[in-house]
Amino acid sequence: MLKDLFTKTHTKKKKYATIPTETAKNDVPEGIMTKCPSCKKIMYTKELNKNLKVCLHCHYHLQLNSNERLASFIDDGSFEEMNENMMSENPLNFPGYIEKLEKDRQKSKLNEAVVTGIGSVNGNKIVVAIMDSLFRMGSMGSVVGEKITLAIEKADELSVPFIIFTASGGARMQEGALSLMQMAKTSVALKKFSNNGGLIISIMTHPTTGGVSASFASLGDYNFAEPEALIGFAGRRVIEQSIREELPEDFQTAEFLLKHGQLDAIISRLELVEKITNILEIHHQGGKLEW
Ligand SMILES: [Zn+2]
Repeated sequence: MLKDLFTKTHTKKKKYATIPTETAKNDVPEGIMTKCPSCKKIMYTKELNKNLKVCLHCHYHLQLNSNERLASFIDDGSFEEMNENMMSENPLNFPGYIEKLEKDRQKSKLNEAVVTGIGSVNGNKIVVAIMDSLFRMGSMGSVVGEKITLAIEKADELSVPFIIFTASGGARMQEGALSLMQMAKTSVALKKFSNNGGLIISIMTHPTTGGVSASFASLGDYNFAEPEALIGFAGRRVIEQSIREELPEDFQTAEFLLKHGQLDAIISRLELVEKITNILEIHHQGGKLEW
């Protein structure tokens, strides 16, 4: 019929409009662009990565994984990984633990939440440990504690500085008391290393909490942090409930801790290699401070 020619059968009108949800509105397609979680500005991922994931607008430090950290900090081609095949078991038969570990292994392409090895920073040989929050939120179980302890012992054996980047949700609850024991074990290893004249540099990154903040993260000869990193032992609400007092807004930030003497400095990721190189060089014989 003639009137059919005027009926739009090929472009059916949608009955409903799609309203993006709050989360969809905040999401930027992953890959080409990245949105800063702090200032919400959008930038090219490539440019952000070139700037070591420090926001080009507000200098917010986005999290780095252990691979990115290695690439940004250690001299190219100098890194020799240690104990990379060490894997956690399920000592307490905690339900679902093995499956969770397996899932995180696939997601992070790591066997555990810390990467350790020997490398150099501007030619200064060091042993480094880098925690990765992609694996079980960087929580500390027996393998994390053991790998860190072995790394400290390696630094002692080679008489080179030990540098650790922490990022952790604390002790790993699925390993119970065995996780808590890692606090004592790593602390003793650091003390022995220190007694032998070893240099320890701790760099706390966002977030460093629980048993990790209460052990090796805070035991450096130098304790540094990245800007705005969350650093603390118990959660804010737990403390507020137990002391029945409201805590200051910036409580448990790197800036707050620096003000109260718990940190030696806050160092921008963009200056980190330069500053750490300087510290490593001061500790050579006849070294000079150019801070
Ligand atoms: Zn920003």
